[in-house]
Amino acid sequence: MVTRLDLFIDRMVSQRACIDFAIAETDAMDGPVFELGLGNGRTFHHMRERITGRDVYVFDRSVEAHPDSIPADHLTVLGDVQETLPQALDRFGATASLIHADLGGHNLEKNDAFARLISPLVEPLLAPGGIMVSSDRMYFDALDEMPLPAGAVKGRCFVYRR
Ligand code: SAM
Repeated sequence: MVTRLDLFIDRMVSQRACIDFAIAETDAMDGPVFELGLGNGRTFHHMRERITGRDVYVFDRSVEAHPDSIPADHLTVLGDVQETLPQALDRFGATASLIHADLGGHNLEKNDAFARLISPLVEPLLAPGGIMVSSDRMYFDALDEMPLPAGAVKGRCFVYRR
């Protein structure tokens, strides 16, 4: 029996493996990085510490993270992503080098429905060669799903490239 602790650990390990892989793969790109879902700010903190030369923008309804993981005001996009992602397309165009999404909660059916809803809003933001990492399966038309990097657990993280 896989326990909730097992699932949690698999998710954390997979997030780190996929984010590190995506950072390395997009290292030569200079477009912005988008973190969708700040939460406690662990993955944001990891990306901010590991990424150099690229702005890391954070999208969330509110900022309620650990004090060490608060994004700068000018890199914070507040609001529901259903509204802020289309606004981001007007502002940035298809320039994002890396998008990481961890917007879900405990209800897997709701997470899947929400991933279907926002996939068409995320897809046009990614620059050619850019990578999207998600905790939920996404439903893209033109992005390719990539094999998971070493250390990631199947089903706990998904990686896509334009
Ligand atoms: N990856 C984060 C970390 O390492 O701490 C955890 C993210 S947490 C699971 C999910 C976050 O997504 C929450 O902060 C929540 O407010 C945000 N979120 C969920 N749905 C959203 C929506 N529709 N618009 C904006 N933010 C949303």
